[in-house]
Parts: sequence; structure tokens; C-alpha cells
Amino acid sequence: MIYLNGQFMPIEEARVPVLDRGFIFGDGVYEVIPVYSRRPFRLREHLKRLQHSLDGIRLANPHSEDEWVRLIGELVERNEEEDQSLYLHVTRGVAKRDHAFPPGVAPTVFMMSNPLVTSTPELVESGVAVVSAVDNRWLRCDIKAIALLPNVLLRQLAVDAGAAETLLLRDGFLTEGAASNIFVVRDTVLLAPPKDNLMLPGITYDVILELAAAASLKTEVRRISEHEVRTAQELWLTSSTKEVLAITHLDDQPVADGRPGPLFRQMYPLYQDYKNTVMRK
Ligand code: PLP
Repeated sequence: MIYLNGQFMPIEEARVPVLDRGFIFGDGVYEVIPVYSRRPFRLREHLKRLQHSLDGIRLANPHSEDEWVRLIGELVERNEEEDQSLYLHVTRGVAKRDHAFPPGVAPTVFMMSNPLVTSTPELVESGVAVVSAVDNRWLRCDIKAIALLPNVLLRQLAVDAGAAETLLLRDGFLTEGAASNIFVVRDTVLLAPPKDNLMLPGITYDVILELAAAASLKTEVRRISEHEVRTAQELWLTSSTKEVLAITHLDDQPVADGRPGPLFRQMYPLYQDYKNTVMRK
């Protein structure tokens, strides 16, 4: 079951006109919300980021927060899986093709649920390989825009190299991954790039920093140079569906000894505990 413009229906029946500005211009924003045991994880934070993205593209929010919560709750109930990955998407609607905003057009609101596929215990144990690339995206990476062609091309570099993700560097500094945020451990300090216009403010990123603070780990949010990335003791990637994973190889080179490091081994169970506690509330 999906949701489209006020109605729930099977995905096979869902239709969007070809003149939808999402299709024509990539003119829209989205969210991906993990659902554990039928409970959306950090829903308020995802809805806050949605508002930031909508503000960023100057599109009025079609729903109040309470309406979103109700619609998302209903979609979760109408789908079978206990754990779901909820995709939510708002475009500027259907209009004659013209770059300028069309007046008086209703936005298109689409949501779908897929089974949530989190990382296997083997992957958590082994870590993943990533490749690096120059971050050639636009300067509003803080907006979760549906126009993802640069991310698609960058992620494909990883796929072509048999790696899990592409780590992005802009002007010699780490930004994030093609579809994830990146953390760096140096001298037992957890380093994270600042939330600015060059990266998506990850919901998982915030969880990791909160958990690190609660565990009294040393953290620093600051720009991280390519040299610091390449000589790190640990690298991690985070996202709503991948949660937190150790990066054990970068461009075919091992990160430290090529195995998940001690801080990752400390953080991973903290994340799982936190998730389970929140879900039980
Ligand atoms: N950065 C990018 C470019 C992403 O696409 C994503 C998520 O897919 C993230 C970071 C991680 O964000 P979150 O933790 O909210 O899933």
C-alpha cells in the first residue's frame, strides 16, 4: 500500500502525470524514515528536516506535523512488515513546463513503505570498503532534494569498484558519503564534519553525536582534511537504513589494521541499545 495525494492504494494503481515537476525538473524533496516494530524512529526530527528542505526550495508544507504523524502512522499500519523503510516525497505539483514556480498548483505528496533491510551481523563484523571521489554536487546539500543525479553517479563509482559507498571530498575536506554521513576517529577523538550547506544533516549523525556525548567520548565537530581521513584510526558511515558501519578500506587501502576499531565496537551496541529503548517506550 502506498499513499498518493490523499488516498491509500496499491502501488500498481498509483499514477502521477508526466508533467509533474518532480519528473520534469526534479523539483521536490524527500525523507527516508526507518520504522522499527511499527514505530517510526526519530519521526519529529525527520519532519523537522522535511520542513527545512521545503523551506529551502520555497514550497509550502502541505501538512501540519500532526497530519504527517497521522498519515505516516496509517501507512505503517496498512503495510505488513514490522520493520519498514518509509519513503516520503513532496514535489511542486503538475504544471505546464516552465522553470518559474507555477501559481496555485497543489503539491504532489507520495509515500511508500518497503521492508527495512538493515546491515547484516557479518557486515557489522567485517566493515565495508569505500572509494573516494571529488564532491561535485551543488552548494545546497543540506536540502534533501529528489534531484539525485550527482549522488547516483557518485554511488555508481563505488558499485563499479565493488565497494559499498563513495566518500566525498570537496576542496581537500571531507563532506559526507553519496548517501550517508562519515565520521573519523583520530587519537581516540570522534571527529564529525560540521552541519553546513555542504552535507545533509543526518538524523543518524545526530544520534551518534548524542550517544558519544552520553558515553563521555571525546568529540569534535570541525572540518576534516583529506590527509586526516586517509590517516584515520577509524572511519564510520551512518544512515537511517545502514545505521552505523565501520569503513575498513578506503580506495583499496586498509583503515588502520583493516578491521572495525575499538570506538566502533563501543558505539555499535550503544546505537542498538538506544534504538531498542526508544522503541519500547
Ligand atoms: N547524506 C546523504 C547524502 C544521504 O542521502 C543520507 C541518507 O540517505 C545521509 C547523509 C544520512 O542521513 P540519515 O542519517 O538522516 O539517513
